[in-house]
Amino acid sequence: MAFKEKVFSGVQPTGNLHLGNYLGAIVKFVALQERYDCIYCVVDLHAITVWQDPQELPRAIREATATFLACGIDPKKHIVFNQSQVAEHAELAWVFNCVARLGWLNRMTQFKEKAGKDRENASVGLYAYPNLMAADILVYRATHVPVGEDQKQHLELSRDIAQKFNNDYGDSIRAHGFGDAFFPLPEPLIQGPATRVMSLRDGTKKMSKSDPSDQSRINLTDDADTIAHKVRRAKTDPDPLPHEEKALEARPEADNLVGIYAACAGVTKAEVLKQFGGAQFSAFKPALADLLVAKLSPITAETRRLKDDFAYIDSVLADGAARAQALAAETMKAVKDIVGLVRR
Ligand code: ATP
Ligand code: MG
Repeated sequence: MAFKEKVFSGVQPTGNLHLGNYLGAIVKFVALQERYDCIYCVVDLHAITVWQDPQELPRAIREATATFLACGIDPKKHIVFNQSQVAEHAELAWVFNCVARLGWLNRMTQFKEKAGKDRENASVGLYAYPNLMAADILVYRATHVPVGEDQKQHLELSRDIAQKFNNDYGDSIRAHGFGDAFFPLPEPLIQGPATRVMSLRDGTKKMSKSDPSDQSRINLTDDADTIAHKVRRAKTDPDPLPHEEKALEARPEADNLVGIYAACAGVTKAEVLKQFGGAQFSAFKPALADLLVAKLSPITAETRRLKDDFAYIDSVLADGAARAQALAAETMKAVKDIVGLVRR
């Protein structure tokens, strides 16, 4: 069966959005608006899988929303909302808790990284996170999911859940007139030179909101001086930039900065090296800082302007949530019928 093409993705309000979120996800969100119906979500229920200060969380939710809008997401043509306002996400996640297998979740590297050594003390929510993510996507029967490279494994799990639901309930799906498959197998969209932006302090670690070092990331709220300072201090090796892309493989920090430059300039890494091959970092870093400032400062200014306008932000979220819920409720009705739950 052919499913209507639809895009879903989300960002957690766990702190300041950063360059990795922007290049790995939000830039793609913006571009996809041209071709698809899109649903973009501030996933606050995911955020609380690790402790969030209740005094801070509302600010983080509104600021993430403001960033979406400042980057050019159109909340009228598409849908922008926060996850907790559409209870169907959590409801479908429960059904998926009963579809997904323990063995599948045990393989998830994000849980291992985030739970760290003290796994016994991690929340059950952090463990079941990928099931909620599958529900976020599939409650809209979305077909395409733009994410950074780090979310690839969770997307594969979403596909496994969709597939198992379609198989386990196959007879019921057909009996209720939904054909051979109720859920599409959602496709990850992970492309371009910055699908995994690395920490500026450690080229082997992903840039993350939850990294304790602010020097490790460029926040979308950083001013021009801060950006220039962080780029200047970014860890590098002593060699000049190579002429060939292949030579970046053994140089994670250089590879990262070249990838960031390429993504911001809208070119390939090879093209960046054509221009900067042989250059020292002392020449490349200021060029990169200038490019970042030119790219990010309009977004920063607009985010600042929007984020404190609670009336406007909250109205965007309420309107988006109402439209999202209308879609999600239809899916949940069908899921209840398929599973055999009596409903009103
Ligand atoms: P946290 O540390 O709280 O998990 P995060 O920085 O990983 O925060 P998320 O909200 O989990 O941000 O991810 C939002 C989107 O940004 C996802 O699509 C994710 O794949 C993408 N993303 C996150 N970090 C990076 C990165 N360093 N490079 C590219 N994409 C990224
Ligand atoms: Mg993350």
